[in-house]
Amino acid sequence: MPEGPSVRKFQLLTSPFVGQVVVKVGGSTRKINVNYLNSLRLQDSQVRLVLPLRERGFRFFYNCRMQWISSPRADPASDILSVEFHRGQALDALRAPRPICYTLLDQRYFSGLGNIIKNEILYLAKIHPLTPGSLLALSDLEQLLDCAVQFSSAWLHSKLRGAGLHPQIYQKEQCPLGHAVTKGTLGPLGGLKRLTWWCPQCQPEVLPGDGDPPPVTE
Ligand SMILES: [Zn+2]
Repeated sequence: MPEGPSVRKFQLLTSPFVGQVVVKVGGSTRKINVNYLNSLRLQDSQVRLVLPLRERGFRFFYNCRMQWISSPRADPASDILSVEFHRGQALDALRAPRPICYTLLDQRYFSGLGNIIKNEILYLAKIHPLTPGSLLALSDLEQLLDCAVQFSSAWLHSKLRGAGLHPQIYQKEQCPLGHAVTKGTLGPLGGLKRLTWWCPQCQPEVLPGDGDPPPVTE
């Protein structure tokens, strides 16, 4: 699945063609007959690549699948690269008592936030991926959101310049400070599990009760 910056770049590239008629189509998808798209008018290009065409809407991902949908769906409030991104809604989601790395990949709250961004921003914010959001201070969650927005914007801008991404933790064996990186497949029970990299030293595990006074023993 392409991540937000890739999709946004594609949206920026296709926007100038809104209003024009499709003169040629191609591709290897078997989901739809691409010839249907011939001579239709491109009506919109949104970050989630929902392109309504006359009565019929279709969703178009490059490097991904295509399918007919009944209506356009795009919620800029959950798009970290949109000026309409709703921080309050995102913070509420992050405060849930589930591992923070599960919430970050929940596209209902963070559309466009994929596995690379997840790994990188957890490292930047020094948060262990399995930390329940409910155990983190609001200031930590605010910082994580800042990292998400800044990292995604920087990635988009480097993409637009044609430059590559230089991850600090994703697919690395050592963190930038030289510590050994741990790798694990993490995801909710019955849900999608994704390879995750973290530095146990830079991103220490937070256990329930951390910060509480030690129990009194006799
Ligand atoms: Zn480290």
